[in-house]
Amino acid sequence: MAERALYLDYAATTPVDARVAERMRAFLSPDGEFGNPASMQHAYGRVAHDAVEKAREQVASLIGAEAAEIVWTSGATESNNLAIKGVAEAYADRGRHMVTMKTEHKSVVDVCRYLEQQGWRITWLPPQPDGRISTETLAAAINEETVLVSLMLVNNETGVLQDIASIGRLTRERGVLLHVDAAQAVGKMPVDVEHMQTDLLSVSAHKLYGPKGIGALYVRRRPRARLMPQIHGGGHERGMRSGTLPTHQIVGMGEACRIADEAMAKEAERIRALRDRLWQGLSELPEVYRNGSDSHNVAGILNVSFAGVDGEALHAGLSGLAVPLALSSGSACTAASQESSYVLRALGREDELAYASVRFSLGRWTTQDEVDRVITSVQTLVNALRRRSPAWQKDCAGPAPGMGDEHPQYSDAVWRYFTRALAADPSEDEADLVVASDTPGSRARMQLRARIEGGKFVSAEARVYGCVSSLAAGAWLAEYLIGKSPEQLQVTTAEIEQDLQLAPVKRHCALMAEDLLGMISRQARLTVDAAEKVAS
Ligand SMILES: *Cc1c(COP(=O)(O)O)cnc(C)c1O
Repeated sequence: MAERALYLDYAATTPVDARVAERMRAFLSPDGEFGNPASMQHAYGRVAHDAVEKAREQVASLIGAEAAEIVWTSGATESNNLAIKGVAEAYADRGRHMVTMKTEHKSVVDVCRYLEQQGWRITWLPPQPDGRISTETLAAAINEETVLVSLMLVNNETGVLQDIASIGRLTRERGVLLHVDAAQAVGKMPVDVEHMQTDLLSVSAHKLYGPKGIGALYVRRRPRARLMPQIHGGGHERGMRSGTLPTHQIVGMGEACRIADEAMAKEAERIRALRDRLWQGLSELPEVYRNGSDSHNVAGILNVSFAGVDGEALHAGLSGLAVPLALSSGSACTAASQESSYVLRALGREDELAYASVRFSLGRWTTQDEVDRVITSVQTLVNALRRRSPAWQKDCAGPAPGMGDEHPQYSDAVWRYFTRALAADPSEDEADLVVASDTPGSRARMQLRARIEGGKFVSAEARVYGCVSSLAAGAWLAEYLIGKSPEQLQVTTAEIEQDLQLAPVKRHCALMAEDLLGMISRQARLTVDAAEKVAS
């Protein structure tokens, strides 16, 4: 088994701080404070109620709010839903227009899309290339019909920080409500709802070393932001969000906020230094690009695109190292699909670079030693992939990356050939025969180079830019060729698929290999014929 992966995905979620876990434990079991906070008739309930109210103050205090302005939710997704749909329903008579950005989290994007289907008009503002929105662009988007502006404080993919204080001045002036998704900001940097003049603000506990499944929505009292509840029943949380309060989750979130309040300033400084060290190390490689703003950002996030490597191969390589790296491509929510990040594309990154991007996110337990290991691993892997690419001419010599024996997403055969491809150095020999293929609709480019002597292939090598399966197919091809004569090259796509245990969606890699085989066989026969003519 591979060693446990090195965790660099703090923006996806954080572990629960031990102090938080300990506090949560006290509110669960028969000998603990398990009462329902709504059962005020007995001490069980009253103790739980008091704990919930203390936590409410801890959350409020971290963002400069009053306790009575905090509504418990199940997380920032629900907070975003409640804020946006709640405002839409409460203010529809005033207008049916909202303004947001193209780079928002899915839990804002999808809610706004839903409202569009309900007849709302949504203005989707594009960011500047550094990910920020200009206040002028925003000002121009607000009209008589606008009831809400919803913007995130810190972007979850790039770490880019918006100037919400200026935006808050503008929305207040124009009499429009401002909702801020602050899930990536709270607990990482000072957040103050008064300074930012925000009316609604979403927080999630599991992004700041609290438990998953609990969050909060700040709802301003003066001037009051009205919301229509989205969950009915029981009238908890002043009618805004019904449901028995999860005491243990809530006290956990409260404790996480208390710790953040205390630790934040020093912690952010330490993490920022590590993040900058990481960028310094990675940018020693040629043609790497930082996505987002290098001056307006949160401490723990670094998003980088690597030219000349395929995104899938890069990610498989990083997660398949002998000491794997746990990180995200784009955001956790879109990682399952093969699309490149909509956030990076909105910043103007072309598809291939957006696809070959990595989000490193650092946190409370990241060490300098880890950062240094990450730099070495990434440099080694990127160099190895670039060495195998037909397009990459620049210097990328170096050691072979230390790969693990298996990868959960690939067949053993694909993984074995892929790691073999990474380990091989491109040969310096002149090849007699070079054939190349591009498959329409696929990003992959494959080049097969071989030498023929005495009617047989004596060396062969594939250079591939593409996914893991295409690199594996290349390595398989080269191996298959050696020792055979051009007439012996007879293999079907199905046989290649079978040999590599290729996933059906990767059939095009086998097709490409078969194509190249046909081409090199024809070219080789011509060469052999020509050689025989010369000889006779
Ligand atoms: C994580 C995150 C969310 C969703 O929060 P959950 O508590 O997981 O529902 C929303 N917005 C941003 C910016 C986030 O990073």
